[in-house]
Amino acid sequence: MDERLQDILDTVQKTAVEVGSAAGDLISSAGQKASSLLSVSKLNVRVADLKARRSVLLQEVGSMVYGTHTGEIADSDTLLGKLREIDGINQEIDQVNAEIARLRQTARVCPLCGADAKPGDTFCRHCGTRL
Ligand SMILES: [Zn+2]
Repeated sequence: MDERLQDILDTVQKTAVEVGSAAGDLISSAGQKASSLLSVSKLNVRVADLKARRSVLLQEVGSMVYGTHTGEIADSDTLLGKLREIDGINQEIDQVNAEIARLRQTARVCPLCGADAKPGDTFCRHCGTRL
């Protein structure tokens, strides 16, 4: 294998276990919101934003790795910065998804029509949506 590419892949692998933790703040603020219905849709938007950002980063990382393969040496600090950002994004996506699941479980309103639900209801009494 190309030596420069191997160097970069080695560096990438060494840092694979380090995961940044810049994502905690969002959850604590999101958990305090009274309207779980509003929070869930906002969190879904957040997840979509994070995934879009991750796609861009993955594409950039791919370009850098391929560039190294074709002789255009990638700056490993830049590459690692992108990988760390992806780590942070993945972590945040996990946390936001967990928060969405938690809100959905504890929500006592229909996610579709907003009608109040009683504990133990499986379907909305107003519109029939699964709760
Ligand atoms: Zn409903």
